[in-house]
Amino acid sequence: MEAGEDKDCCVKVAVHIRPLIGDERLQGCKDCVTVVPGKPQVQIGTHSFTFDHVYGSTGSPSSDMFEDCVASLVDGLFQGYNATVLAYGQTGSGKTYTMGTGFKDGFQTGIIPQVMNVLFSKIETLKHQTEFQLHVSFIEILKEEVRDLLDPTSLSKSETANGHSGKVPVTGKPPIQIRETSNGVITLAGSTEFSVSTLKEMATCLEQGSLCRATGSTNMNNQSSRSHAIFTITLEHMRKFSPSICSDSSLNETMNEEYLCAKLHLVDLAGSERAKRTGSDGLRFKEGVHINKGLLALGNVISALGDEKKRKEGVHVPYRDSKLTRLLQDSLGGNSRTVMIACISPADINAEETLNTLKYANRAR
Ligand code: ADP
Ligand code: MG
Repeated sequence: MEAGEDKDCCVKVAVHIRPLIGDERLQGCKDCVTVVPGKPQVQIGTHSFTFDHVYGSTGSPSSDMFEDCVASLVDGLFQGYNATVLAYGQTGSGKTYTMGTGFKDGFQTGIIPQVMNVLFSKIETLKHQTEFQLHVSFIEILKEEVRDLLDPTSLSKSETANGHSGKVPVTGKPPIQIRETSNGVITLAGSTEFSVSTLKEMATCLEQGSLCRATGSTNMNNQSSRSHAIFTITLEHMRKFSPSICSDSSLNETMNEEYLCAKLHLVDLAGSERAKRTGSDGLRFKEGVHINKGLLALGNVISALGDEKKRKEGVHVPYRDSKLTRLLQDSLGGNSRTVMIACISPADINAEETLNTLKYANRAR
């Protein structure tokens, strides 16, 4: 298969190289990542990796990322296909910037705001024939616990010990549970789902959830780098056919409507710096001291999905190994579409983590 060619495999992998940032420049860091001109190929030291796409630092312009990688997932939602976009990488590599999960950074240009724009303009063009309902949820998985970023009652304004006002979780609320319906649909019992009908309402959900995550993280020891933030858009549609197609009026009720429901998960993953790959076979991630269970399981799930031979043999995909993979189960593999964006810093001081990220991403192909 040619590099960059669309494959029938369900996981597409792109690399996003951010520019050297202020701190790195101040420290006199050198750029240690090169992109082979005209190819989606990244070199670091003696290592070379080929992906579906490479953006930034003389790869394709980052502005192409949405159209190349995400637009078709949004289209798929309108045909009933679930999808997942994952931003992977060490803390500071640009995951939040790339996804646009941050309240300020990248809010205008990240993937989520672009998804919202395209989604609402598509709905606008189709609404004469189809009735749409949109729901949004925004949760965070931290230490294998699901936290609702949109629930106003799970958070209360309070004074912290040092006098700063902030939001802290109120204990005693039943934990959010991941459930699977008899037809394989994954649901989150106990999490807030907002019904939204305008772009502005959806943007408000994103902003509030991001703020909630950020506030939590300053109070709790920068946990945002250790948690997975998942912004989920669910699109339900009821297509109305013109009654003339259906002459028997008694059948109208059932025959002239088509119902579809699909969801898109937009995931800003925990910092990968704790997910060390061990073993020379490269086949499994082993659990280390502070390893993030979700990243470990995600690597194993994606690798199992990407291995065509294994898929044909019906090899077990270990979704149940973490909350993250369990939650994404019906949107990873099968008929769903997945894009992983590996975010990297070009700075030489980050070379080791960058190499780890490229290896992880490479294993997903
Ligand atoms: P992460 O979420 O992976 O910890 P961030 O998205 O917060 O990383 O990015 C770290 C810093 O780098 C931020 O200051 C962000 O604005 C900056 N940054 C990230 N990606 C880019 C980019 N593509 N272009 C310019 N600045 C970027
Ligand atoms: Mg971040």
